Amino acid sequence: PMNNHNGQSGITVTVAVRVRPFSTLEASHGQQSCLQVDKQDTIMIGKDKSFTFDHVFDSNTSQEQLYKSIVLPLINGIFEGFHSCLFAYGQTGSGKTYTMGTSCFGPVTPSHGIIPRVVEDICNHAKTMTKDYEISLKVSFIEIYNEDVRDLLKQHSKKILDGRSGAKDSFSLAPNTKIQVREDESGNVFLEGVNEVTIQTYEDAIACLESGAIHRATASHDLNERSSRSHAVFTIYLSKRPLQGPKTDKKIVSQFQLVDLAGSERAKRTNAEGTRLKEGISINTSLLALMEVISVLGDEKKRGSHVPYRRSKLTRILTNSLGGNSKTAMIACISPSEDSMQETLNTLKYANRAR
Ligand code: ADP
Ligand code: MG
Repeated sequence: PMNNHNGQSGITVTVAVRVRPFSTLEASHGQQSCLQVDKQDTIMIGKDKSFTFDHVFDSNTSQEQLYKSIVLPLINGIFEGFHSCLFAYGQTGSGKTYTMGTSCFGPVTPSHGIIPRVVEDICNHAKTMTKDYEISLKVSFIEIYNEDVRDLLKQHSKKILDGRSGAKDSFSLAPNTKIQVREDESGNVFLEGVNEVTIQTYEDAIACLESGAIHRATASHDLNERSSRSHAVFTIYLSKRPLQGPKTDKKIVSQFQLVDLAGSERAKRTNAEGTRLKEGISINTSLLALMEVISVLGDEKKRGSHVPYRRSKLTRILTNSLGGNSKTAMIACISPSEDSMQETLNTLKYANRAR
């Protein structure tokens, strides 16, 4: 990882690759592996192309192992005022949603992915600090589809949210308006009109994740189809203020954005028409912009270069948590199967450029 904490444009970028296990279908078709994972975080694809990353997780890696090695280090930063951004990249079916835990509910089990674990750790950590600090936690959950931002926590999710523990009166859901990306005087990007739900417990936050996932699913006949064409962004906002001493007016605010990206194979549907073509262009633009933003921010030699945040909705929305005081991690998800080799190679190349 690169450590550039001098000044506004320094970020730390960690790039990891995760290989998912063979699916039962792939196994039943006798698919062979096109990958070989090395101990030194190196992965070889085919016979001669090899790539090295900060981490390469093979298909035996548990959710807990992955969480401990790349996500836990980001949590401490949140309480110190660092923003964080973590995203999963890869073709549809490569394990992004499994890894991010975007549709995991209930208490954390071994198969739960990153988001519920982050929520659990942040809530627990916050609880240990309440004697000395006033801490407020909020979450929002949005989806970016064709450069439009949709709030996944809107009105019709209210029933689920009302059923959660505590904090019942601390939020009210805004009417179903279209969400605009805006910037304040100090350059902070925010989502105008988005529901930011105050949470007090793990259960509160998981109720939001669940209602968002249900909303996402009901907007389409097929959740996987829908989720392969849109980016989902779950954000946790923290504000922390000392209760005693000379700094009681000093508030630390930070946010952790967790992103389940659209399927990367959607980016190059060259023979598509109409809606599919529009989707493809939008996904292509945003994934390329994301890559360029990260490679400018993470490279000392490019310090001072123009950062192309404005090139897509995705990069605009991630502006705060990618720029300035922030830590970023990317997980490139891949399938081991021979028939995915071309997409897997594309994913490895993308991840390699982010380093
Ligand atoms: P994507 O979100 O990239 O389209 P999914 O996360 O939905 O992919 O994964 C596709 C399938 O593979 C799901 O059934 C998921 O449970 C399974 N899967 C993915 N990664 C793993 C893993 N590391 N271990 C076990 N099952 C996995
Ligand atoms: Mg998915």
